[in-house]
Amino acid sequence: MRAENLRRHPRASGISIRWKLVVYMTLFVAIILLVTWLFQIVLLDAFFRAVKKNEMREAADALAVKVASDDLQTAAYGEAIDHSLCVTIFRIAENGSERMVNIDATGSNFTVTLSPEHLGKLYNKALENEGTYFSRIAFGGFEVSDGSISFDNLPFSDERGTEKKIPTKNMRMVYVKLVQGTDDSTYMILLDASLQPLDSTVRTLGTQFLWIAGIILIAALIMVFLLYRKISSPIIRMNESAKQLARGNYDAVFSGKGYRETRELADTLNYASHELSRLDRLQKELIANISHDLRTPLTMIKGYGEVMRDLPGENTPENMQVIIDETTRLSELVNDLLDLSKLQSGARAPEFSLFDLTDAVHEVMKRYDTLIKHRGYHVSFDFDREAYVAADRGMLLQVLYNLINNAVNYTGEDKTVTIKQTVFNSRVRISVSDTGKGIEPEEMPLIWDRYYKVDKVHKRATVGTGLGLSIVKGILELHHAAYGVNSTIGKGSIFWFELPLTEAPVCLPDQSTAEE
Ligand code: ADP
Repeated sequence: MRAENLRRHPRASGISIRWKLVVYMTLFVAIILLVTWLFQIVLLDAFFRAVKKNEMREAADALAVKVASDDLQTAAYGEAIDHSLCVTIFRIAENGSERMVNIDATGSNFTVTLSPEHLGKLYNKALENEGTYFSRIAFGGFEVSDGSISFDNLPFSDERGTEKKIPTKNMRMVYVKLVQGTDDSTYMILLDASLQPLDSTVRTLGTQFLWIAGIILIAALIMVFLLYRKISSPIIRMNESAKQLARGNYDAVFSGKGYRETRELADTLNYASHELSRLDRLQKELIANISHDLRTPLTMIKGYGEVMRDLPGENTPENMQVIIDETTRLSELVNDLLDLSKLQSGARAPEFSLFDLTDAVHEVMKRYDTLIKHRGYHVSFDFDREAYVAADRGMLLQVLYNLINNAVNYTGEDKTVTIKQTVFNSRVRISVSDTGKGIEPEEMPLIWDRYYKVDKVHKRATVGTGLGLSIVKGILELHHAAYGVNSTIGKGSIFWFELPLTEAPVCLPDQSTAEE
């Protein structure tokens, strides 16, 4: 039925890992490329200008202290070469100005082309601006930074139109600094840098960027493919095994080789498959046992009934007793099955009440009076006081009955069963010991499982359904009670459980008796 359900289960929909990886990887690559493009291409111009402006300011400051000295030429040369600048220094006197230095490391000789009128405008601008002035100027004659100076009549002007149309290679950066020399003259330091190298750098980077984008994209796709194979192959393998398991093949082995998570998943699935196969086996055994257990008493009841109907002389109390015993056995089996299914489904909740556990043990022991009297069993109960507990009395009677019944069934040749009650640390422990052949240590954790039977050969008279201890376990766990078994091979087993001790209830004198 389980396999049927799975077969009918629709195929899972949604995006496969492969496409998820492609989407995430593409996003990742797109982000990397966007950031690279932003910094390397779009913002490069701004970065370059900021750095260049700073360099020009520093160069002008360095030259400012040298204006009236002899090594002005050498210093100007150094600054021009170091920063690829055109350095022009004028001494401005009342009777006119004199070009002291003109060193051009930019190769354009732009400042030479400036007329005295242009120079005068730059001088005035610097004067207005606390002695310094920075501007970007286009060869086409447009002042870019603030538009306040018109260089329309520049010799280089080719009237190419608006600012937007001016190519970077035609752009100049001009820095003016006015300095008062020690010889009382004013010096105008005019530095000029070309933006041309930036233009070619941008072009180089642009081409490089296309290559980088292509290579990264191909590498990302290869990586997606490899990652997909690495991630998905163990999942696909496990899916195949899961399908086999769903078809009822419990030999299916899950292999999660590849990475830790899949290995852990495979381990869990292997464990689940092992448990499923164990349960399946136990369930089959149970059905076989139950059918056997049901058939035998039914055959007996039918047989005895027919004999008693057909042969009036056989209508004896003994024969009637056989029918009654077999009916009792049948109802016990059915009750066990019902109890277990109720416990497992949670339909049976304990009803707690305060009662005398010692008395409950006595009550269960009474059922064995006949065995003790007629079959030579020795069932003893060892206790030193009455112990009260808060629990579901009916359920605890069932626990006691199952444990005592098992002890009676499995005890040794001397037919001895000892029940002991010990009170310690506000707890009461009930232990039921027998002198049977004991339980192998490896079987001990398993006997609490439903349907589990140590002796796989089904012997009706001595062995039950394999449900008793799982009912005991279910009930004791509902009571949060400690329980366990100690067993020695050849010597016997001791099954025990513990419950918190409760004070005995205060007994009020019976009203009716008091009146009498
Ligand atoms: P069953 O009805 O078969 O006794 P239980 O659930 O009560 O089922 O017990 C499970 C198995 O545990 C038994 O089949 C038996 O092999 C083992 N077992 C239980 N009690 C004892 C005991 N007192 N001595 C030895 N084996 C025991």
